[in-house]
Amino acid sequence: MTEKESRKLSDEYEVADVLGKGGFSVVRRGLSKCPSAGERSHVAIKTLQRFGSTPPGLPRNRAGEKGLTSLGFPMWKQVSISDALLTNEILVMRKIVEDVSPHPNVIHLHDVYEDSNGVHLVLELCSGGELFDRIVAQDKYNEVDAAAVVRQIAEGLAALHKANIVHRDLKPENCLFQSTSEDSPLKIMDFGLSSVEEFTDPIVGLFGSIDYVSPEALSQGKISAASDMWSLGVILYILLSGYPPFHATSNRHKQQIILAGDFSFDDHSWKTISSSAKQLISSLLTVDPHRRPTAQQILQHPWVTGDSAKQDLMDAEVVSRLHSFNARRKFRAAAIASVVSSTFFLRTKKLKNLLGSHDLTPEEIGKLMTHFKKICAKGDNATTSE
Ligand code: ATP
Repeated sequence: MTEKESRKLSDEYEVADVLGKGGFSVVRRGLSKCPSAGERSHVAIKTLQRFGSTPPGLPRNRAGEKGLTSLGFPMWKQVSISDALLTNEILVMRKIVEDVSPHPNVIHLHDVYEDSNGVHLVLELCSGGELFDRIVAQDKYNEVDAAAVVRQIAEGLAALHKANIVHRDLKPENCLFQSTSEDSPLKIMDFGLSSVEEFTDPIVGLFGSIDYVSPEALSQGKISAASDMWSLGVILYILLSGYPPFHATSNRHKQQIILAGDFSFDDHSWKTISSSAKQLISSLLTVDPHRRPTAQQILQHPWVTGDSAKQDLMDAEVVSRLHSFNARRKFRAAAIASVVSSTFFLRTKKLKNLLGSHDLTPEEIGKLMTHFKKICAKGDNATTSE
């Protein structure tokens, strides 16, 4: 990757349809104007907008060089959160380019452009959809399939952790399939909240669900590679049951049970799950981060290699629960994206509390919609007292 300060994105790419939207970004399909080997390549262009009044400026140094510490990270506290996220994502992506890419399970960054619309990350296109979307669309699903997913995420994490990169926001929606083909690789993406151990001051994860957040992250202890392993444990638990391990109606209660590592395999659907899978989950969901296995270690685990994973079809109830879980998650993600992108989101405490609770009841969804309409009507005047 080279610096593209003087060239324009539009000189090299045709920008097409919107693929998705995040809190501070819009991702569009792009088509290169200059064919390589006779073909025009398809990419994803993630445009991160600046909202802060005094943007910190793009880092000009190559990630990994010592000069990065002179970028003034303490300044992040004075600039908007969106600017801090933006700078962080670029730093981490550059580190990935230098120390991890190409890797089949980590998204690749081709280029970076900057103009008055914001910063454009030209990324490898992943057109195969999100992890849970594909699983719920399958008519057959068993432990071997789940093990293949865990193996790919662990491969990606092992490479990232080796480069001292901690993802910090590992969740199913940040895992996309590269293509729709059956053997498509699964890619880890969205490094907006990630940290590079030696030079970034991690941004506190203010947004979204705490379902995947480790106890040490919640208690504001040191966040390390082991925190990603906890998140992987949560993903695995959901893959095999259709519901999250830490389940509560209030965010405060959920925090308490995460901190205590209080989960169980009591539901009847766990009876048919192999003991090897349960043992792996228990090791990943160990409260003490030092006692959790590393990504490299779990790649040798007999369940992850597929040796002890059951081939029997998963209980239909698990797949149906996964369906509902996925639908609720998508609804909440859309709500968060629209709230986060508004300038007043940090002041809408009530809404944040509602969104933090994973299991939205119909009544809560109604409340959420009413609150949405209210804050939309009030615009920037919404306050925490609502
Ligand atoms: P969030 O606020 O959830 O952290 P974000 O602003 O970091 O989001 P992303 O999650 O990276 O944005 O991207 C938003 C959406 O765009 C994704 O959910 C996905 O649907 C789509 N998307 C992102 N990257 C790609 C890609 N490389 N290929 C295809 N689609 C992508």
